[in-house]
Amino acid sequence: MIHVTEEQSVPAKHGLLENVLQQFNHAADQIKLNPNIRKILEVPNTEILINFPVKMDNGDVEVFTGYRVQHNNALGPYKGGLRYHPTVDINAARALAMWMTWKTSLAGIPYGGAKGGIKLDPSKYSISELERITRRFTYALGENIGPEHDIPAPDVNTNPQTMAWIADTYMSTKSTPERSKNMHVVTGKPVGSGGLEGRDRSTGFGVYLMIRCWTEKMGETLQGKKFIVQGFGNVGYWASYFLMREGALMVGVQDAYGSIANAEGIDVEKLFAYTQINKGSIKDYAQASSIENEDFFELDCDYFIPAALGNQITKDNAPHIKARLIAEGANGPTDKEGERILLDRNVTIIPDILCNSGGVIGSYFEWLQNRNGEMWHLEEILERIEKKMRANFDKVNDYASEKNVDLRTAAFCIAIERIEQAYILRGIFP
Ligand code: NAD
Repeated sequence: MIHVTEEQSVPAKHGLLENVLQQFNHAADQIKLNPNIRKILEVPNTEILINFPVKMDNGDVEVFTGYRVQHNNALGPYKGGLRYHPTVDINAARALAMWMTWKTSLAGIPYGGAKGGIKLDPSKYSISELERITRRFTYALGENIGPEHDIPAPDVNTNPQTMAWIADTYMSTKSTPERSKNMHVVTGKPVGSGGLEGRDRSTGFGVYLMIRCWTEKMGETLQGKKFIVQGFGNVGYWASYFLMREGALMVGVQDAYGSIANAEGIDVEKLFAYTQINKGSIKDYAQASSIENEDFFELDCDYFIPAALGNQITKDNAPHIKARLIAEGANGPTDKEGERILLDRNVTIIPDILCNSGGVIGSYFEWLQNRNGEMWHLEEILERIEKKMRANFDKVNDYASEKNVDLRTAAFCIAIERIEQAYILRGIFP
């Protein structure tokens, strides 16, 4: 294991990292953040980079690179997802870890922020290879993760199965009496293995709720509203599922393999069933037309849910977006220039750290359930997520109106002020 050196840990120019640092600095200026606390929050606390070998099915050995960046734990243990994707690198992990710090703070839950992953394209590996890669990375992380220290969760291309492998590996390396106490080392586990009912849908449910809150605020309903979604994985699918249930129409979808559209509406459940027999992809779905990827952004709709990767809404497509509302399911989907264009056009953006926080709130409930030996039920869980997210939506909206700032700035200000307060009360050791 290599702990990244101080020289390497200086944030380099990078799309996502630049984006989150600009957002942070803008809000920090707005609240006149204590300069000493700004110094602390600008950089992650800990950065871990691990090169580790894994035996492939054909007997060859491949060496993979995994990352875990722990940005801040002033409010509680580090918390954040693990992503398996070719774009994972130290700067992506730094940026995503920082967003987690603001997200957990804004959500009002007792966590800090972390993120990590492995640089790989999972479609190139068998299930048994992915299992060995996951278990070996978990073993190599050792005590850098832990149920009261740093708690990973699913993200792009990782899922409840991945979390079950991590939990099993982590627990198997503990002595017998300690073993069963460590299940909450990860959240997002399968329900049959310590997971929370509804954790699978909690991020998408939260995205839907935020769209609903905004729509209600406009004095409207979801009935007949049109939406497009980029990314039809965990977040994109579940957000679409709940929107369709309330009478909204999904008129366009984009994933890593292509884009489809149908102005009359695409049935969310049927498309999902199709992806299950089409290697996870929406491509060539018969009840919609295939369109060029660039044309997807220009589709006529009320809402646009980016639920894939970062930096997808840019100066190139922002001028052509028809939606009145962008609900950020993904982390960092809108870059600075794209955001400026949208705000100038009076398009509302519900920022990622609010919009997709249903996932980490669900994770917090799973962690509590495991920690306290309880069993919670689906209805009660969704009710609790709704209560928390509606309150957070109102808090961000009220702040934005009072200070005359956009929703992202408001969300960042609230999140950073909470951490600033913790440092002021606690002081800096020694
Ligand atoms: P996922 O792996 O389940 O799905 C990702 C989807 O994005 C897939 O449909 C994939 O085909 C698509 N995609 C990938 N690259 C693309 C590209 N270049 N263009 C268009 N589509 C592309 O991942 P997920 O868990 O749904 O996560 C999606 C986003 O939501 C990520 O930014 C993640 O950080 C964020 N998020 C996830 C959670 C969660 O609980 N899973 C919580 C908060 C935020």
